[in-house]
Amino acid sequence: MSHSISRSNSEKLFQKAKTYFPGGVNSPVRAFKSVDGNPLFIKRGDGYKIWDEDGNEFIDFCASWGPLILGHNHPAIYRKVVEALQNGTSFGAPTALENELAELILSRNPFIDKIRFVSSGTEAVMSALRLARGYTGRNKVVKFEGCYHGHTDAMLVKAGSGLVTFGESSSAGVPAAFVNETLVLPLNDEAALRSCFQQHGFDIACAIIEPIPANNGLLLQGGEFLKTLRSVCSEYGALLFFDEVISGFRVSFNGAAAYYGITPDIITYGKIIGGGLPVGAYGAREEIMSCVSPDGPVYQAGTLSGNPVAMAAGIAQLTVCAEEGFYQDQEKRTKAFVENVNTYAKEKGYDFEFVTIGSIFWFNFDGKKNITRADQINPDMSKFKQLHAFLLNNGVYIGPSGYEVGFISSVHNPEILKKAAEVIKQGLDHVM
Ligand code: PLP
Repeated sequence: MSHSISRSNSEKLFQKAKTYFPGGVNSPVRAFKSVDGNPLFIKRGDGYKIWDEDGNEFIDFCASWGPLILGHNHPAIYRKVVEALQNGTSFGAPTALENELAELILSRNPFIDKIRFVSSGTEAVMSALRLARGYTGRNKVVKFEGCYHGHTDAMLVKAGSGLVTFGESSSAGVPAAFVNETLVLPLNDEAALRSCFQQHGFDIACAIIEPIPANNGLLLQGGEFLKTLRSVCSEYGALLFFDEVISGFRVSFNGAAAYYGITPDIITYGKIIGGGLPVGAYGAREEIMSCVSPDGPVYQAGTLSGNPVAMAAGIAQLTVCAEEGFYQDQEKRTKAFVENVNTYAKEKGYDFEFVTIGSIFWFNFDGKKNITRADQINPDMSKFKQLHAFLLNNGVYIGPSGYEVGFISSVHNPEILKKAAEVIKQGLDHVM
């Protein structure tokens, strides 16, 4: 079990890529910087498996960072995409496929009356923030420490301790003026929330939150904090903005809003909605969406928005997700997998547990349980790093960062999850 797989083709490709792209990649986490700095170049995926350029085969739990809830190369998505491709790739004009995807979503979703398709989660958040500001006529936005909302300027704010940290950019290139209106609060801290709203409440356009914060470990809020947030927003006339780019169509068809039974005012979607192609979306009730151009004064547009090939992929994927029992089955398989590993870790006395919700799981290398805030996490990343290397060498691919979550797809059957759990248990024996 201590052998190392051959990575020479990936290494050669990475050397070349470094001459083309900053850090050799087109999105930073792909560079494997927080693990061994040598990313695998992936050649192909099918079902729960991926193969790299050296021919190594892996059980994939990254799933392109969440979009692939049906696994790789799902036949229904493949067929629908090929059918759409035969008619052309893009027209910059409305197509029936946009209606079809909207109908699939809106006919089942009690939270939003209208939707606008864009091409990424970042674009969805950026557009919806503008809408929240345009609709309310207010400028300030509350965000929560540890929540990631894409790389739009106003959301790249470092979170500090204490009550409210006024905009301090966490990225070079973002003028202070762009983030001065962003108020950062700790998650699950009712006192901080109330104090912030007492001070700024009537200037706050919206409070944006990942209702299932999954970008800084998995910081489950439970329903209580979200309910308080809902009522505080209502009290001050601020919009509650659920960023469901990860949780949408993942924990239930209608995301965390349905999972917790909380009605937000604005929702963003991404990832799963596009079936592996670039799609994002934002939606709200009619009154709010009527502010969007060309009906209203809030401008937002996109050359490739509602792209027919991407719409086709989304339609095929969401049609399967909408089937009776889909999410119960996802959760059942995930629970069995997580419990298998957690029981073992507990028996062995390891400071480790999987944290889970729906079909999301996170490797928590911190002995502390029930972590709900970013400042409570202090996981042992050297252990994650060792585990990551062990898993790669033994056929299991996970996101290359200890703060990232893993995703289970409909094609991760109980047998394969059992096999993966055995490898993870051996990995824990190796590193703990
Ligand atoms: N919002 C959340 C909650 C996300 O997790 C992400 C990406 O991981 C984004 C927004 C940005 O989406 P994209 O990477 O498609 O721009």
